[in-house]
Amino acid sequence: MTDLEDLYQALILDHAKRPRNFGALSDANAHAEGYNPLCGDRLQLFLRLRDDKLETVQFTGSGCAISTASASLLTEVLKGKTLADAKVIFEAFHRLITEEGAGASPIDLGKLAVFAGVREFPTRVKCATLAWHTVMSALEGRDVPVSTE
Ligand code: ZN
Repeated sequence: MTDLEDLYQALILDHAKRPRNFGALSDANAHAEGYNPLCGDRLQLFLRLRDDKLETVQFTGSGCAISTASASLLTEVLKGKTLADAKVIFEAFHRLITEEGAGASPIDLGKLAVFAGVREFPTRVKCATLAWHTVMSALEGRDVPVSTE
């Protein structure tokens, strides 16, 4: 293992043990549940949207280290982002962990790059993407007027 891999491992374990933004959000205006039957991961994502920005992102649930760490990092990364940015990040992240040789991301994924190694373990891809699919379904199901600006 390289030092970099150790660092990545440490970051995932840290977020799995002490998930950030963990807990239900009472004033959420978008919400979705995700379930990964392959592993048993269950997550609920709570969003507070203002205009086209993700003002607050929180989650609850229980799952394996990868799914918990992924949800925790998602909340950190998406907080304050616009819906358009969130979609771009989701697509880049999805490509990072599913496409062989997808080294160069069109955007800087920052800490999310720690999940690149998941590509080697196809059964864990669903764990790593669960929170992302859940957040996208919360955004699609939201009942908020579209801005015409
Ligand atoms: Zn899992």
